[in-house]
Amino acid sequence: MINKNKKNFLIILISPSGGGKTAIFKKILADNTEIKYSVSYTTRKARINEINGVDYNFVSEEKFIEMKQSGDFLESALVHGYWYGTSKSYVISILKNNHIIMDIDVQGAKQIMNSEIDQITIFILPPSREVWLERLKGRGTDSDEVIQVRLKTAESEIKEIRDFQYLIINDDLENAVDNIKTIIKAEENRIQRYKNIEIYYGG
Ligand code: 5GP
Repeated sequence: MINKNKKNFLIILISPSGGGKTAIFKKILADNTEIKYSVSYTTRKARINEINGVDYNFVSEEKFIEMKQSGDFLESALVHGYWYGTSKSYVISILKNNHIIMDIDVQGAKQIMNSEIDQITIFILPPSREVWLERLKGRGTDSDEVIQVRLKTAESEIKEIRDFQYLIINDDLENAVDNIKTIIKAEENRIQRYKNIEIYYGG
């Protein structure tokens, strides 16, 4: 009874490229149907394995700027030369019934942290710098130039790590996912997220 009266929240996962977050997202979403994924808008071109409307909403720069000017985004940022943004109306509608999990960069996360939206922030890092560099190079979908840009961005993102609440070292997928689930469970049980508790028990 009381559980139904809990407030949902936004789960922000921040990770530099190569942090291994894609696998984490897949597993969390497969295991938890009550958590929905926030599909971002981007002006980047779709990679070969990406589906429009599932991985991203791929839009033109013109359309993106129009949406940004109309105030459609909860946050937006220019990342590696392309625009990325989170739809405000989408997030608000999902939060009525579910938690929503999102994959955004440090700039975007900070914009949401300055908003009224109830959120938790989790930073994900690969197990070591060596593994991380290997993962960055090994993806095979990006040029050396793109990898260098991502590396520079990632290094500057790590400098801001202490602004976030939780850190997950992604040394083992199961372990990382379990830790994230534990964080979500604990956050669900914060007093602030129970609605009407006084009315329910207070008589
Ligand atoms: P990728 O193009 O490799 O999918 O993502 C590049 C970067 O953009 C990643 O750091 C990812 O977290 C970030 N990103 C993806 N969607 C959004 C978004 O909606 N807003 C912001 N600010 N960053 C995003």
